[in-house]
Amino acid sequence: MAAADLINLSALIDDAKCFALVRQHRWPEGVRCPACGDGGVVRDGFDDTQPQRQRYRCKACAGRFDDLTGTVLAGHHQPLRTWVLCLYFMGLNLSNRQIAAELGLGASDVQAMTEQLRRGLVSKAPEVTLAGEVEVDEVYVVAGHKGQPAAVAKGGVSGAAAGWRARRAAARWRRTGRPSSA
Ligand SMILES: [Zn+2]
Repeated sequence: MAAADLINLSALIDDAKCFALVRQHRWPEGVRCPACGDGGVVRDGFDDTQPQRQRYRCKACAGRFDDLTGTVLAGHHQPLRTWVLCLYFMGLNLSNRQIAAELGLGASDVQAMTEQLRRGLVSKAPEVTLAGEVEVDEVYVVAGHKGQPAAVAKGGVSGAAAGWRARRAAARWRRTGRPSSA
């Protein structure tokens, strides 16, 4: 019988301490706003689904963030304690396969987690970067006209095209740092 069958380690881990660990790693000298870097930050309640995940509001830029905002730990479906345990197992030199078995996860999930954790527990989530020239064909997607064929025929397509142009200009801005009139 595997140890995992006897002891569910994850269930024994204290969520509050996991979030405290992240805070300590991330902000050893006090919470700072990830957007503007200011230290004038006030607590602003807790996450709706994760009661130990502290939310904050920045007094300088009015930005809102929480313990995990901007880190690789944000927006993942694995609870924080799973990440912390994964890090612990990595420290014990367990293979991805062994960690997957211990945590009851798929090997590919664990592979992705260990790759991210090697950059650090609270390392920045990688931004999507496009290299070189990126071309996107102009494609118009017109949703079905659900009982309003006249409206679609009249303005739907040009409206969609205008939306597309705005999105394309925004994408170009993100890519090049320049707004575009195209
Ligand atoms: Zn700020």
